[in-house]
Amino acid sequence: MITVAIDGPAGSGKSTVARALARRLRAPHVDTGAFYRAATLAVLRVGVDVRDGQACARVARAARIERRDDRTLLDGDDVEEEVRGRRVTAAVSAVSAHPGVRAALLDRQRAQAVAGGVVEGRDAGTVVVPDAELKVWLTAAAAERARRRAGQEGVADRAAVAAQIADLRARDRRDAARMRRADDAVVVDTSGRSVEAVVDELAGLVRRVARAGGRR
Ligand code: C5P
Repeated sequence: MITVAIDGPAGSGKSTVARALARRLRAPHVDTGAFYRAATLAVLRVGVDVRDGQACARVARAARIERRDDRTLLDGDDVEEEVRGRRVTAAVSAVSAHPGVRAALLDRQRAQAVAGGVVEGRDAGTVVVPDAELKVWLTAAAAERARRRAGQEGVADRAAVAAQIADLRARDRRDAARMRRADDAVVVDTSGRSVEAVVDELAGLVRRVARAGGRR
């Protein structure tokens, strides 16, 4: 099984595409962002300051974070809905910025990816699985990313889309230092394309890499 790393900004369609590609390949899907979201929920629950790197790292190390059937578990409880909510989304960039938090979560992300699969995030191709046989950088126009997000939340009017554009841009700015496109990543723009079309393209790339014996 080859390893595919999919990175890109918030709302680029990474999670949807990575999940669908993993299903198509019958391979594990490793959502590295979910680990940061769960660690952030743990930090918020304990009530430590999200700007305190040492305290956040301590909480992240102590938290039992698991991913099972595309659900996120924190200390044994299913927190999938809560980690996708506004409270966690607003705080996650501050928590994920701390090197101690990243160090605490990296081995767990790698452990999930040992047998290959589709690993998605911001630094999958550069840090989590730098030896991935295929690396993809997904992009999409800001307005489209915002429309998708607003649509997911069931509030697709113009004001909601404008608010989403501002939110996504702000999160990308906060995540910029961790968002690293690998030099050897294939850039795929998902603007105006269906999930199926993008997954077809990526599955084709996977077949090509597999035929070449895992060499890019
Ligand atoms: O992918 P998702 O939007 O769920 O990621 C949530 C947050 O987790 C990002 O905004 C970023 O702060 C952090 N993250 C990260 N490195 C990754 C994946 C996510 O810092 N590899």
